[in-house]
Amino acid sequence: MRTKRKIILKKPAKILIGVVGSIFILLLVVCILFFSSRSALIRLGYSKEASFQILKQWKKDYILEIGKNKTLNAAFESQDYLEKNLDHYQKIEYQNQKHLIRNINQLLKIGYSDYEISMILKHGDDSSVSQFAKRKKVRYLEEFFSIPYAKLENYDRYLAYMDEAREDEETTVLHVNLDLDQKDYENSVEVKKFSIDMFVNKHHYLGKKFKVQDLVPIDSKYVVGTGKEKANKEAYQAFKKMLRDMEKEDLHILINSSYRSYQEQEETWNTYQQLYGDNYVLKYVAKPGFSEHQTGLCFDFASTSSNIFANSKEAEWLFKNSYKYGFIYRYPKGLESITGYNHESWHYRYVGKKIANYIEKHNITFDEYYATFLD
Ligand SMILES: [Zn+2]
Repeated sequence: MRTKRKIILKKPAKILIGVVGSIFILLLVVCILFFSSRSALIRLGYSKEASFQILKQWKKDYILEIGKNKTLNAAFESQDYLEKNLDHYQKIEYQNQKHLIRNINQLLKIGYSDYEISMILKHGDDSSVSQFAKRKKVRYLEEFFSIPYAKLENYDRYLAYMDEAREDEETTVLHVNLDLDQKDYENSVEVKKFSIDMFVNKHHYLGKKFKVQDLVPIDSKYVVGTGKEKANKEAYQAFKKMLRDMEKEDLHILINSSYRSYQEQEETWNTYQQLYGDNYVLKYVAKPGFSEHQTGLCFDFASTSSNIFANSKEAEWLFKNSYKYGFIYRYPKGLESITGYNHESWHYRYVGKKIANYIEKHNITFDEYYATFLD
């Protein structure tokens, strides 16, 4: 009996061990295969999460053939992944946007091509793309968005402005981005950080508490009358260097006005408003916060040779040479519609040599430079 029982017990045990062992080895092989495939995908540039999904969806060979692709990585990481759009994901240029894949799916559904979707994504952020994906297919996409600095969120304004102002696409995009389709001081943006290339105009303002970096007093010998003036140190030093070179040619300028605080601009505004009324003040005086003088980066010059600065040889010299020192003629004649100011022959703005050179070479305003490169 005992031996019999032993034999009966041994056989299923052997089978069990055999089965368990085989399953174990099989699992081990699967695991090794899985982890080696996953690490191959990771080495290729896919995230752990995306790599897992790629294997789960049996798309390893597809991915290995394509190689690294950020949009595909995002697609496999996303809950919105749709297998039918796989070939599209691959061709659409990646942007770091939260709902990238969801928006791509939606834009494909509306009927945009991969090329058009890349364009839409590039010119917007997550929220403007999400909004855009909710509307019907638009007609003039490439017309506006082949311009590098066109903004998706401005699409309707481009259409309206083009219709009204009858400008070409490039001018339209530039003007709308500069808010020239809006009333002065309306929908304005607060500029909070000081920088040499900061931009202040009738749509970009500085708050009451804005602080100019390195604000230093200007030596009274450079200032008209008994005025006390301040400026940003770098701008002030550029001015002194420029003046030294001017004096070698027997040319002389003084500073009429440089840094003005919010409060000072407010006083000026109120004084002129009481004297001459709203129309005058709106046309000739910058609203508090909207004056470039609050940046500490600009100067109103006076000449000692002529009462009318525009007619002086100093004005002529500055117009031709100031860019070499990092200054620009900020409000040129004939470009009032862009700068928002009547031309001021005496008002010079420091932007640094690099930008000043570019502006001089391409004969553009600082506003256009800002819209093209800094915005
Ligand atoms: Zn000025």
